[in-house]
Amino acid sequence: MSALPLVFDAPRRGKPPRHLADLTRDEARAAVAELGQPPFRADQLARHYYGGVTDPAQMTDLPAAAREALVGELLPGLLTPVRHQEADGGRTRKTLWRLHDGALVESVLMRYPGRATVCISSQAGCGMACPFCATGQQGLTRNLSAAEIIGQAVAAAAAMANGEVAGGPGRLSNVVFMGMGEPLANYPRVRKTLDALLTPAPHGLGLGQRSVTVSTVGLAPAIRRLTDEGLNVTLAVSLHAPDDELRDTLVPINTRWKVAEVIDAADAYARRTGRRYSVEYALIRDVNDQPFRADLLGRLLAGKLAHVNLIPLNPTPGSKWDASPLPAQREFVARLRAAGVPTTVRDTRGQDIDGACGQLAAADQVDGVPSVAVAPTPSMEPTVELGAEGDE
Ligand code: SAH
Repeated sequence: MSALPLVFDAPRRGKPPRHLADLTRDEARAAVAELGQPPFRADQLARHYYGGVTDPAQMTDLPAAAREALVGELLPGLLTPVRHQEADGGRTRKTLWRLHDGALVESVLMRYPGRATVCISSQAGCGMACPFCATGQQGLTRNLSAAEIIGQAVAAAAAMANGEVAGGPGRLSNVVFMGMGEPLANYPRVRKTLDALLTPAPHGLGLGQRSVTVSTVGLAPAIRRLTDEGLNVTLAVSLHAPDDELRDTLVPINTRWKVAEVIDAADAYARRTGRRYSVEYALIRDVNDQPFRADLLGRLLAGKLAHVNLIPLNPTPGSKWDASPLPAQREFVARLRAAGVPTTVRDTRGQDIDGACGQLAAADQVDGVPSVAVAPTPSMEPTVELGAEGDE
């Protein structure tokens, strides 16, 4: 089991340069005015940014003389692609990004028939120390800024629009916070990111609330805070065990907020939004996949507005754990369904590029700076049912 401490307070490193995506619309207008330009230029810049335009030469609605200054001051490049890796015939693409201070994060774009999902990172590394997750074993490097998180989604939207993903030009439809990091441990920046994802053009990507999934290890107070925001985004809770005894070891934050409190918080979210939450459960052979645990989980969730998403464990380097064998998976599913709990098994994408949930996280060095190069997740996209939640 993990000997790593739980870490909430991210180490402070140099702040990334100011970026339009970190600012409110009013702040952006003020910043543009400081550069001697009329405030509406903030809207023009935002339209270019969220539209994936980064080259000042293409911003022909801005006066040529002002373009470089506006872009230099408000749209600095925060995410430098280090490499792209493809899988699934080019329909899964993982990108390793270098941040201004050398920290590394990954995002994974997955195209499915009828939708395209990007899995984004909210922190470099993670402080939650889950022993089966490669990112958790790396520790926390730092929180990402809002613009660093938003930039991953904007880049994915541009890649889809430009036809960089097999299948021709398309539209980014979904965003899941299932990459590196614990989104609710970086709450203010993630909150800002949600605004940018949901706000229509020019100041955002205009995604639907149901198409955005926040996945949490179970920070109960932060789930309650999210409930009070009035948003309706999809909530996913990484449970992995129905009982405190086992969950204390698999998800160390459980020593602080127990299963009952986490489920209570998720239930309150579901009551407020009228939307089913997703319970994530990595099936680990002989660890959490016993029939009695399926029954416990079934009793815990029966009658609740919840859906279980089982993820056969993606093995991580050095771990002694493995995925549950198929018969154990089938038995687990059958028992949950018999308890009346909607259950799906997640289809894993990107295993061959170490892009599947919790797989990456190799320490790396860029420009001599040790960094965490991770990428927990491609498969993270809740497969069938979450996508179909609109039919509830
Ligand atoms: N911190 C957030 C996001 C993490 S990644 C959270 O905990 O929800 C998204 C999902 O991948 C989580 O459900 C996480 O528990 C799961 N995961 C991590 N490592 C995994 C592994 N090795 N195999 C399968 N799923 C894993």
